[in-house]
Formats: sequence, C-alpha cells, structure tokens
Amino acid sequence: MSKILIIEDEANIARFIELELKHEGNEVDKALDGRAGLEMALSGGYDLILLDVMLPVLNGLEVLRRIRLESEVPVIMLTARDAVMDKVSGLDAGADDYITKPFAIEELLARIRVALKKRGGGATIQSNKLQIGKVVLDEDRHEVTVDGKMLSFLTESLSCFTHL
Ligand code: CA
Repeated sequence: MSKILIIEDEANIARFIELELKHEGNEVDKALDGRAGLEMALSGGYDLILLDVMLPVLNGLEVLRRIRLESEVPVIMLTARDAVMDKVSGLDAGADDYITKPFAIEELLARIRVALKKRGGGATIQSNKLQIGKVVLDEDRHEVTVDGKMLSFLTESLSCFTHL
C-alpha cells in the first residue's frame, strides 16, 4: 500500500483517480489548489504525488520546484494535450514522469507503479540514516551495513566524512 497525494483542481478527475487508487489498496489524499497541495506535499510523508500543471493559486510547476527544494518524492505531472513546454519544464523542474490528459486510467496506474518501483532503488534519507540500494549509513548507531550485515563500526560520527 502506498500513500498518494493528488493535486488537481478538476474535482471530477481528482475523484475518479482517487477511487481507482483506493480500489488498488492505496491511501489517497486530495488537494484542489497549488498552495494547499504544496503544504500537504511537504508535511504528509507521501510515497508519490500526482500534480496537475494548471492549478489555481500556485501553478503546478511552481509547486514542483518548491517540493524539490525539500523532497525527492516521486512526482508525476498531469499535463494538457500537446502542452510540450509543460512537459519539458516539468521534467526540468524534477518531475519523474508526466501523463497527458485525457489519459486511460490503466496507463496512469502503470506509470505510478513504475515511479514507486524506481523510488525503491534510489537513495533515501530517513532521519539520521542514508540508504543507497543495500548500503545503509546509520549515524545514530555509528554503523554501515550492506544487505543487513555490518560492514564497519565508526568510532566517530559520520561527520568524519567532512574531512575527506
Ligand atoms: Ca487543472
């Protein structure tokens, strides 16, 4: 189960996507404008965000830029048909993928699965832990593990890396 945020001002589209994602067993929240969406995105601990480009209050590209200042959460942009600049700008601003409206829900669900899977292989930072694939640097426990097995025990905290 994943926690997904939909930022989309067209209530019918948002509702439709929400029902499909819930049907697949996901937890879903919705925001109807860019500012509300940004606040939720930064505070909610989401696994993935669906972000419309044309949004009231704060547009989707601006929302994406501000999310990327703080978070690497996967973002799939929802763009209008043939809005090439939106797609390019979205990818430049750090979107993981985009889908053009109108879309087949099956395609959106497939893209969501891919984006979530990619995230599993990337680097993640949780409090004082950095994980890159199977390698975990744990600052609190002063240890490095690979695939769960301890590699080395650091007498100093990981701040020693600043001297390299
Ligand atoms: Ca819109």
